Amino acid sequence: MTRSINFSAGPATLPLPALETAREEFLDFEGTGMSILEHSHRGKAYARVHEETKALFQELLQIPSNYRLLFMQGGASAQFALVPMNLLAGKSADYVDTGTWAKKAYQEAQIVGKARLAGTGKVGDKYTRVPKPSEIDLDPNAAYLHLCSNNTIMGTQYHEYPDTGDVPLVCDMSSDFMWRPIDVSKFGLIYAGAQKNIGPAGVTIVIIREDLLERVPDTLPKIFRYTTVAEGDSLHNTIPVFPVYMVRNVLRWVKAEGGPEAMERRNREKAQLLYDLIDGSPDFFRTHVEKESRSVMNPVFRLPTEELEKLMVAEAEKERIFGIKGHRSVGGIRVSMYNAAPIEWVKTFVDFAREFQRKHG
Ligand SMILES: *Cc1c(COP(=O)(O)O)cnc(C)c1O
Repeated sequence: MTRSINFSAGPATLPLPALETAREEFLDFEGTGMSILEHSHRGKAYARVHEETKALFQELLQIPSNYRLLFMQGGASAQFALVPMNLLAGKSADYVDTGTWAKKAYQEAQIVGKARLAGTGKVGDKYTRVPKPSEIDLDPNAAYLHLCSNNTIMGTQYHEYPDTGDVPLVCDMSSDFMWRPIDVSKFGLIYAGAQKNIGPAGVTIVIIREDLLERVPDTLPKIFRYTTVAEGDSLHNTIPVFPVYMVRNVLRWVKAEGGPEAMERRNREKAQLLYDLIDGSPDFFRTHVEKESRSVMNPVFRLPTEELEKLMVAEAEKERIFGIKGHRSVGGIRVSMYNAAPIEWVKTFVDFAREFQRKHG
């Protein structure tokens, strides 16, 4: 079997060893004569997976003891609603609109209660940047400030977070979770759907500072309360056993490769190769994204015409390079280079793109 080069934005490529472990263990999990898919979420076999996955998160992210780690369902999109439902507590929350996902989060909060725009990534009619910390107009009484750390579709990313003082910082890290070490203590709540950087679709990771659990209102149905999930150790109802198991396999790989520090070194190397390509031929590869806001995970760029973009996607597929078509809302080319994408893939893509330019530029 030859693995295809997969730059899809999500669900995205997974580390080969994580898939191989799943294959080896698939029919008979640790000598139990059952697949992990068939085990009770309350049984001993799954309990080992659950505990190991939590321990790996704790170790790799150095999660302080006053934070709770939750495994939830409904994707990051469910968090867009659950965050305000649980944390607004009758106040108004601040949101930064940096495009698609950040905007959806803001809109959900407006349905739930009061939300206010504290910053934008829009310049003219395009989202080309993330605001600098000094540009964020924070309401000191806000219930929280919500940001999206990496804008998967726009190709922008925060490289510096604002200091929000007593206002908890809430962050959607779906597409750059675990791309580098983070200081969890700077955040009130972090959430991330697994299917971009740490696993398959089906589980969402939430890290919440314990004191914020006190805000959760009794008027909320129990199933939507963070307190229910925290008190039940994410086992209040049937957890998606297999996605958590796959996250475990991915985190084992992250650890074996050297942890978030090693991920960051590699991710920066990959981004350097890709942005060198763009900067080296600005007439052919054009990006609207401001330099300081460039995403390490999802570089986006345009070619001189839409026809050339279509042709590039088609020619790439002939070379078994998949997933480079930009999101339909912004067009162009997007090369998603999550942790599991090896640097060799990026080199292959860059060579392919240079050759494409030579032929069509
Ligand atoms: C993909 C993505 C989402 C949506 O995730 P779902 O799991 O489909 O709800 C939200 N935020 C960001 C930053 C994303 O990249």
